[in-house]
Amino acid sequence: MSSTPNGSTSDDWRSMDLFAPTEEHRMLHATMRDFVANEVEPQAAAFNRDETFNQPLFRRAGELGLLGLTVSADDGGTGLDAIASVIVCESLSTADPGFALAYLAHTFLFVNNFYHNASAAQHKAVLPRVISGEWVGGMCMTEPAVGTDVLGMQTSARRQGDHYIINGRKTFITNGALDDHTLGDVFLVYASTGERSISTFLVEKGDVGFSVGQKLKEKLGMRASMTAELVFDDCQISADRLIGEEGQSTIHMMRNLEIERVTLAAMSLGIAERCLRVMVEYANDRKTFGVPIREHGQIQRYIGESYAEYKATKCYLYETARRLDLSTSGNRVDADGVKLFASRVAKDIADRAIQVLGGYGYMGEYVVERLWRDAKLLEIGGGTIEAHQKNITKDLSRSPELIG
Ligand SMILES: Cc1cc2nc3c(=O)[nH]c(=O)nc-3n(C[C@H](O)[C@H](O)[C@H](O)COP(=O)(O)OP(=O)(O)OC[C@H]3O[C@@H](n4cnc5c(N)ncnc54)[C@H](O)[C@@H]3O)c2cc1C
Repeated sequence: MSSTPNGSTSDDWRSMDLFAPTEEHRMLHATMRDFVANEVEPQAAAFNRDETFNQPLFRRAGELGLLGLTVSADDGGTGLDAIASVIVCESLSTADPGFALAYLAHTFLFVNNFYHNASAAQHKAVLPRVISGEWVGGMCMTEPAVGTDVLGMQTSARRQGDHYIINGRKTFITNGALDDHTLGDVFLVYASTGERSISTFLVEKGDVGFSVGQKLKEKLGMRASMTAELVFDDCQISADRLIGEEGQSTIHMMRNLEIERVTLAAMSLGIAERCLRVMVEYANDRKTFGVPIREHGQIQRYIGESYAEYKATKCYLYETARRLDLSTSGNRVDADGVKLFASRVAKDIADRAIQVLGGYGYMGEYVVERLWRDAKLLEIGGGTIEAHQKNITKDLSRSPELIG
């Protein structure tokens, strides 16, 4: 063991916790453990069953500083990073991925995106309301006819004097509605401002020509988050609602997709962890042929493979988050890679958990059937697994050195 000039030793790296490298991360872990056990878990089954968004719980997340997680302390936020973002999304998803999705759409698709691209005046007007949870935000990229092929979007914005006029429809928007009657509060809306020109606009509830269309109920999973179609019918907003420069938003979009994919992967990890715990506990308790079912080789295979895949996902995810700089882009290959891997792992582990529990796994009481339904979304939302495969192949073909 050798000493460095600042007194640390070359063996210090061994004590580094990959999953909570700083004191702030450890404190966040403790906060999340209590919040999830005492406040998230007890409400999860009911809000999912009723397909309702728990707004009081969302405001509580605001009180805990979770909604402005990646906004600097100088701007009223918590000033944390991508690892903290992973810790929060992973923890929430061990209990309630539906609520976690609504949280993620607000905190990362809206707040983090807005924070990195909006002006100081826009920050002043909006940040306090979205950090406290007074306003619920979302991000509008997908359209009825355009999903993966996002650059072909048809929603348009045209400048008219001191205003922009937006026309089009966005669909599958998380937090688009807050309940059966109420539109979400504030959105970042991507729209075409000319050929090969995409711009971002801040659109608020109450803006002329802005309304909620279909509320998309009876989703397979994620039922505690509301999904809606949003309609822009000669929607008129003042020109100072443009975020950044006109035509510069492909960069906003690509940069924010990295933290979006990493936090969605964290949701998969939370689902995998909970399913693994349920599986192990049940295999200890349940007996068939006079022995606990953990004694059967086929059950051991479900548990052993699930543990190894869970652990591999966790290491890949935290290593990707460690290297993610929220203010720049450039980590697409691993943001795509970890979401691609984690979403399949979560789905497989949830499936095995149901199998290990037999008929009980198929019933609501043991949670794994809900998590199994929730897990599927992560192969679609924030980019489909096919889109990740395509991006990874493109990135590695251009830059084989990314392989390592
Ligand atoms: C619950 C939920 C919440 C969502 N929340 C939001 C949100 O808040 N904001 C938002 O903007 N969007 C949101 N989305 C939309 C989501 O991001 C899109 O559904 C996703 O990007 C896929 O787009 P699509 O559904 O139009 O599928 P499509 O793009 O039509 O794809 C259909 C199929 O074709 C495949 N495919 C497409 N192109 C290719 C290709 N080049 N090569 C190979 N295969 C291809 C796809 O992978 C997929 O399997 C949400 C979706 C859901 C279900």
